[in-house]
Amino acid sequence: MALLSKATSLALVQNVHRLVGLPNGFPPPEAPPAPRVRLRAPGTRSAEHVDVAVIGAGPAGSAAALIAARAGLKVLLLERGEYPGAKNVSGAAFYGSAIMDELIPRWWEQAPVERYLSRRVLAFMAPETSVALDFRSARFAEPPYNGVAILRPKFDRWFADQAVAAGAFLLNAAVVDDVLWEDGRVAGVRVRRDGGDIRADVVIACDGANSLIAKKAGLQRQFHAHEMSLGVKEVLALDEATIRERFQLSGNDGMAVEYIGSITEEVSGGAFLYTNRNTLSLGIIGQISSLAQHKRRPYELLEGFKAHPAVAPLVRGGTVREYSAHIIPEAGWNMLPKLATGGMMVAGDAAALCFVAGLYLEGINYAILSGIAAGETAIAAYHEQDFSAASLARYETALKARHVLGDFHGYRHAPAMVNSERLQNLYPAVIAHAAEQIFRVRGEPKQKIGPIALEALRQHKVAPVELIQDMLNAGRSFGW
Ligand SMILES: Cc1cc2nc3c(=O)[nH]c(=O)nc-3n(C[C@H](O)[C@H](O)[C@H](O)COP(=O)(O)OP(=O)(O)OC[C@H]3O[C@@H](n4cnc5c(N)ncnc54)[C@H](O)[C@@H]3O)c2cc1C
Repeated sequence: MALLSKATSLALVQNVHRLVGLPNGFPPPEAPPAPRVRLRAPGTRSAEHVDVAVIGAGPAGSAAALIAARAGLKVLLLERGEYPGAKNVSGAAFYGSAIMDELIPRWWEQAPVERYLSRRVLAFMAPETSVALDFRSARFAEPPYNGVAILRPKFDRWFADQAVAAGAFLLNAAVVDDVLWEDGRVAGVRVRRDGGDIRADVVIACDGANSLIAKKAGLQRQFHAHEMSLGVKEVLALDEATIRERFQLSGNDGMAVEYIGSITEEVSGGAFLYTNRNTLSLGIIGQISSLAQHKRRPYELLEGFKAHPAVAPLVRGGTVREYSAHIIPEAGWNMLPKLATGGMMVAGDAAALCFVAGLYLEGINYAILSGIAAGETAIAAYHEQDFSAASLARYETALKARHVLGDFHGYRHAPAMVNSERLQNLYPAVIAHAAEQIFRVRGEPKQKIGPIALEALRQHKVAPVELIQDMLNAGRSFGW
């Protein structure tokens, strides 16, 4: 079991473009730069004081900043990018519309939403065949919508603007290198710039996967390579009418497809394809330990994915507009950090609150939920002027009340089950093989489905006892 050393994990984050072979000079995601906000004149050394300093203007950070600023607290939102979302990577199918509706009523009328996801497909892939479960619901195409497709550079920027409109200060191009300590508790942040120490009663670390800040505060351990995945994503431009016709969509309806099986070859992982208004987002996600073990690079797998006979007709004619890569914390409950200490809480991917379990790839909604919970805890602490570890331990109660910890605990066995060798590589092949035999007409006596299924299991060397074990395991992970 490989443990990522501190240096390796730092290098992983900083050099992820190099790792995945991002071409030099590749165009960055489109969005105009936001104006920068300065807290004070450059050169001033005295530490500014805020009630809450939020590190990272992703979904978790903007939610936390919005909640705390609305309650009248002095909130500083620190973002290392040129603007929020500049470098953020997601699929992105966002399944938190109802949560967002509580925060910003009828948010979809003003936010940069690409399409409403009324169609969801789960596809089991073998090298030349695929079997898909295709779900459509007209109800998913009605407000508040079950899920929407978004593009993070636009969405994150809009969401951070809502926090600013509520009164938060947004400081772009501000990299937080460390937390400040006082009397044994976190008392501020150190920003990489002149006069960069900022005192804060509460620091909320929302700096994403492999959070350096959570580690520096001693809340998170180094990860094992099997707990992290690497995702690479492309955005392909395709005109709106072609997308509607090709994916059988009307109006602004959209489709999300998740793929499992041979699409990642022998690597544990999966692939996704989401329809935007006039682009497609597609990508490959591979477990880091498995990529290393099989010496595969995700962008090679991405090329194979696009060439698969079930995928090639969907992406035909699309021109690559963006290419990006990012890591994903995948082990769920088993990699949650200590969530709070005196003066500090951790939310979103920084707290490994990314729900990845085969059927589900939901990080944005849990980031927002945990950001809200952290913001609410900061407000309560502010009113009592108690920022001790005991006071901020209520963050855990807030996460339970919003069902975040319940979801992660309930599905705690799912990540290992989904990444298991048989589920990844054998069962999709068994399903595809059996489907081909069931649908093939040879002019010979028709076989019954039972013997076809048994033969498919035999050909792929799955013993009946293993199948029973896996069914029980699947039941424990997803069923009860
Ligand atoms: C390829 C891929 C596909 C995905 N698909 C989906 C999907 O379809 N649906 C879904 O729900 N989830 C998806 N996810 C997961 C989702 O992206 C994350 O769970 C989500 O972005 C977490 O939000 P966050 O705010 O916690 O962190 P992030 O979105 O990572 O935001 C962290 C922010 O902190 C900033 N930051 C980092 N370090 C510092 C620092 N030191 N100082 C200042 N700022 C800093 C970053 O610039 C960034 O803006 C996907 C992830 C990947 C990689």
